[in-house]
This record gives sequence, C-alpha cells and structure tokens, in this order.
Amino acid sequence: MKLYNQLTKKVEDFNPKNKDEVKIYSCGPTVYSYPHIGNFASYIYWDFLVRALMFDGYKIKRVINLTDVGHLVSDADEGEDKLEKGAKRENKTVWEIADFYIEDFIKSYHTLNLVEPYKFARATNYIEEEESLVDTLTEKGYTYETADGIYYDTAKFPTYANFAKLDLENLKAGARVDFSSEKRNVSDFAVWKYVKPGENHTMQWNYQNKAGYPGWHLECSAIIHKELGETIDIHTGGIDHIPIHHTNEIAQSEAAYEKQMSYFWLHCDFIKIDGQKVSKSLGNVYSLQDLANRGFSPMDFKLWVLQGHYKGDRNFTFDDLAAAKKRRLNWRNRIAITYQKDDIKDNKEAMAEISNAINDNLNSAAAFSVIDNSELSMSDWQKIDELFGLNLINDAPNINENIKAIIAARKEAKENKDYTKSDEIRTKLEEQNIAIKDTPDGQIWQYLN
Ligand SMILES: [Zn+2]
Repeated sequence: MKLYNQLTKKVEDFNPKNKDEVKIYSCGPTVYSYPHIGNFASYIYWDFLVRALMFDGYKIKRVINLTDVGHLVSDADEGEDKLEKGAKRENKTVWEIADFYIEDFIKSYHTLNLVEPYKFARATNYIEEEESLVDTLTEKGYTYETADGIYYDTAKFPTYANFAKLDLENLKAGARVDFSSEKRNVSDFAVWKYVKPGENHTMQWNYQNKAGYPGWHLECSAIIHKELGETIDIHTGGIDHIPIHHTNEIAQSEAAYEKQMSYFWLHCDFIKIDGQKVSKSLGNVYSLQDLANRGFSPMDFKLWVLQGHYKGDRNFTFDDLAAAKKRRLNWRNRIAITYQKDDIKDNKEAMAEISNAINDNLNSAAAFSVIDNSELSMSDWQKIDELFGLNLINDAPNINENIKAIIAARKEAKENKDYTKSDEIRTKLEEQNIAIKDTPDGQIWQYLN
C-alpha cells in the first residue's frame, strides 16, 4: 500500500515492521463540546485506512485518545483549559463535561460504523505514565522549571524543526513579547502545568509537591508508550497537528525512549463548508444531528467524505451531500437487483481494480467509480461493505416471503389485465417502502427511499 508520509513528505510504500499487527495511533477529540462534521471527516478517513489495511489482510492494533485535561484554548499553552471552559459554559463540573462528551463521541463513532479501536484511551487514566515521562525527560536534561510549570527545552532536540519544516528564527521574531518570558525558546512547551494561585483548575494532581496537570502533548506520548510500545507503524491526525502537537510528541517520545516514534505520519486536510472555514460566527458548524434533521443519514456523510481524499481541499455543500445520498441509494437498489438475479458471477476484475485503487494512497474515489460501473455479486458487495463500512447490505434487506407473495399477486393481476387491483397492490407495496418497476424482463422491485 502506498501512503503519503509527512515524515518524508512523499508517497511511500507502507510495510509494517511487525508483519502480524499494524500499530496505529490516532489523536482523538478534546471532549468539551459536540464535534462538527469536519472533525468526523478525519475519523472517517482513518477508519478507511484501517479497513483498507484489514482488506489487505493485516491485523490492526489501534488506540484513539480522548483528551479530558490539559488542552488549552491555544494549542501553544495559552488560555484556559478547554474542559474548564466547557464546565463554565454548561454549569457542570469538568468531570461531568468529560463524561458527557466522551459518551456522545463514542455514540457518534458507532453511528458512523467506524471500526472499534483496541482502546479509547482517556488522558486522565494515564496520569502515572505521564508523570513518569516527565521524570525521564528531566533525568535526561530536556526540561526546565518556570513559575508556571515544567517546560521542554526544544533547543536540546536538534531535529525539532524538521517534521513541520519550522522556521524557528521567524517564529521567534513573530512571538509576542509578553509570552511567558521565562521560556528559553519560543517553541518550548509545557509538559506539566502548575495550578496558579487563585486559578480554578479542578483537575489537578500532586507532582513534585505542587498541584498541577499534564500538558496536552504529553498524553499522546505517554499513552502510545504504555499501550503500543516505543515505535508504532502509523500515527494519524489533522494538518493542524503538524507544527505544534505532533512536533512536540516526537520531541518528547524520541528524547525519552531514544527510538523513532512512528514510521508513518498521516494528516488529513480540513474541509470547508460552502467555501468557507468552519466557524461559529459563520453559523456553519454542522453536527451529525444537523445533517439528520435535514434528512441525511450518517452513511450519506461518510460516502461524501470518501468521495474525496485525505490530502486535498474539500468543500462541503448540501447539494453535494444530496448527490452522495443519491449514489448510496442507487447502490442499495443495485443490491436489491442482486437479490432478484441468481446469475451474477463474482467480478474478480472489478474487485482487483478496487484493490489497486485503495492501495494507491487510499484512492476511494477511483474505487467508487469502479463500483458505479461494474456488475457485482452479493459476495462482491459484502467485501465492498467491509472495505468502506457504509452499511449497504444492512440498509438493503431482502424482502420477506409475505412481500414476495404480494409482488407475485401484482404480476398475476397485470397478466389478467386487472389494473385496478394491480394499482392497489402497488400502493400497498409503497407503504412498505417497496417500488415496483415494469421492465422488458418483467417486474422488478426497488427500495422507494
Ligand atoms: Zn496527539
């Protein structure tokens, strides 16, 4: 399989080091508000990565983290903790906020029929591992203390700028003068933050005899080490993670464990909505529920996402979503036809083309056009369903004996030229979401909606 690797900035052949099991880590949500559809697009892209690898016969061990502490409003250690912000907004405790949005996220995850990871790892369940990682970094001389926490000295990690091709001189010039003046370098980041006197930070732990909490980047390094080991095969995230979050994860893990953190790094681009960035002020922060309210299923959205590529600008419009829905309903009706024909053979050629497309840097769009243009057997559809997780067969159940008998009765009525009865039966079938079409080969049934 070929994939775009941010580490080398090129499309490369993916060969896992451990042939039996591909280790994948995906940066997950900060659980303080409802995710919008742009957030879910990334989980859909990486779900497809997982499914494509499974299609190729790999076993997967994947961890997704749930950030419930330490992610400040700015990714660069500034502003309020997002969980505290959520708690104030909803007049709840931070723990209630975390529990609520974790439950909501996992519910949506299941609604989208995304492959269950080996673990959803909640940051506050790894405090011990996070403290021990700070210990290691301190023992190796990578940290220093300031009044507000323990910082990573990025000057001690000579390759710090490589991953994101950072221009550190420029960063320095552009930095705010009052920005934590105790920091040695503008790119230094907190691995551990102290609770300031008078600060209302509910989640806090006693470390080095001071009340504090882990920095956001620390959790991913600690969770990966605990659950997946020193080196993983693929690390995923959004492009916004490249310059700070993933750069810092690499600096922490590779300094502490002295091993390459991940062989592949995959990042998806953002989606725009109606040509604009997703933003509250533009009123375009759609949730999955907003799509449902407009009559779209999570599978319509999933299909829309997979019509594009994880690298590349995407523009979401409701017209395009409607087109994706039409395509999905069309595929569902082709499955209905498959039930009614017993002479469709497995299409090895089409399945090989689909396999080539997905192995070519996850080109689901090309695979979809093969689906559009090929006659497929039930067993082909089953493989396609496993590969894309679109619930096609589930949403296209075969008709039962009762409906089969009603359809046969309509055929008989038509043959007897009893059009009143045949029309009555048609209406009766429509009530059961079944449409009857007369074709030169006789009548066929389809799903109405
Ligand atoms: Zn992360």
